[in-house]
Amino acid sequence: MADVPFGFINSGGICYFNTMLQAVISCPTVLRFPTAINDQPSTQVGMTFKVLLSMINSGKIDGIQGLSAQLVGALAAQLKTKGSTYIFQQEDAGEFFGHLINELDTDNMFHGISRLFNCGILTEVKCSNCSFVISKVSSELILFVGSNLKVEETSVLTDYTCDNCHLIGTCTLTKSIDSTGDILVIHFRDKYINPDIVINYPVELQCKDIIYKVVAQVHHSGGLSGGHYYVSCTRGLGKVYTIDDAHVHPNFVEAHQQYLNVCMLFLCKV
Ligand SMILES: [Zn+2]
Repeated sequence: MADVPFGFINSGGICYFNTMLQAVISCPTVLRFPTAINDQPSTQVGMTFKVLLSMINSGKIDGIQGLSAQLVGALAAQLKTKGSTYIFQQEDAGEFFGHLINELDTDNMFHGISRLFNCGILTEVKCSNCSFVISKVSSELILFVGSNLKVEETSVLTDYTCDNCHLIGTCTLTKSIDSTGDILVIHFRDKYINPDIVINYPVELQCKDIIYKVVAQVHHSGGLSGGHYYVSCTRGLGKVYTIDDAHVHPNFVEAHQQYLNVCMLFLCKV
């Protein structure tokens, strides 16, 4: 893999795209995907991503104006065509990330890539009157956390009728983490409401007995109606770079540290 990352030119309002792609390829398990048992790509998106990955893995990157930039532009166009139900706006970097992973997952070669990211979220509805519990686990690619860094939320379902005792407003909904994958993608949901909120987050954290370390931090500057995405990520021999579209700068501080305008984190198992 190339020690110094390469930037992607912004062909028009795609800073969220460039940023999320840089974050995704900062994850070593993505770069090692797929294994030898996998098939050839069966989709356009898979084909483009495969060529991009092989360029990164071989370290043969031909600069920001070259093939890599063309590939990224092509991937953006392919995903936009495929994702007619998605509205790609500045705020939708997280949504775009989900779109990329879900599309890759439909490809023969990249099928299963979503498992690297999947978190199991346990949702429980419990009745305070009869103690009846309904629970389900759903798979999510992104872990939405509050400014307390917790996914756990408890809320009283005021209009909900208990399936067992049929009383209204006695049930409480609780969400918690059931399982996590190789890669943890965290989205600070309070940043949606208040971009200026200061969140103290660790660059290494333990979740379900697994220790994760930040490999990419997604920055968003500006307000809710607009703004700009860029990313700081670990590459090559562990050095941290800030990548802002085509511009790549080594960080003065060698390790990841906290920044005010971070809205998402990519963490990998240590
Ligand atoms: Zn009940």
